[in-house]
Amino acid sequence: MRKEELTFWEQIYIPQIYEGLKVTARHFFKNMKGHIARLLGKPVKDDETVTIQYPEERRPLSPRLRSLHRLVKRADGTPRCVACMMCETICPARCIYIVAAEHPNPDIEKRPARFDIDLGKCVFCGYCVEACPEDAIRMDTGILEFAAYTRQDMIYTMERLLANEPMKITSQGQRL
Ligand code: SF4
Ligand code: SF4
Repeated sequence: MRKEELTFWEQIYIPQIYEGLKVTARHFFKNMKGHIARLLGKPVKDDETVTIQYPEERRPLSPRLRSLHRLVKRADGTPRCVACMMCETICPARCIYIVAAEHPNPDIEKRPARFDIDLGKCVFCGYCVEACPEDAIRMDTGILEFAAYTRQDMIYTMERLLANEPMKITSQGQRL
């Protein structure tokens, strides 16, 4: 393949540098206008990039968002989970660990004696929620910040999962 010859102006690069600076400056002033308008409470145009001032300001959440897991409770506070292992089996990250035990109620075959999710490995695919025949696990807490200092702290035990509550959001998607 023949190499394309550069013109004289392309060889000295100065017009290209000038063109690049022109694009950068155009975006800079357009976005600055958006930021000032936002500060003054004026509407911002769609093509003006305005950074969300996280964490003071949060993005609206979709009700379909997959967030931190929780285990659904029965009326008596025990897990609705029947330790069928469907979620553990389907999990592509192999990060669910369940130990089944006999349920004291003869109408319910099993209960989880242990139910851990290693969120350090979880890929938030939601397969566990989809696979559950009892609607016993959900990812609707709206909790997105759960960084920890140790790997051990990323493992959510049954007690921690049962303590999580469903998120409450306004019609505009803001968390209550
Ligand atoms: S969301 Fe996906 S990766 Fe995470 S625990 Fe559920 S099935 Fe496993
Ligand atoms: S699929 Fe549902 S019922 Fe079965 S072990 Fe998982 S959470 Fe429990």
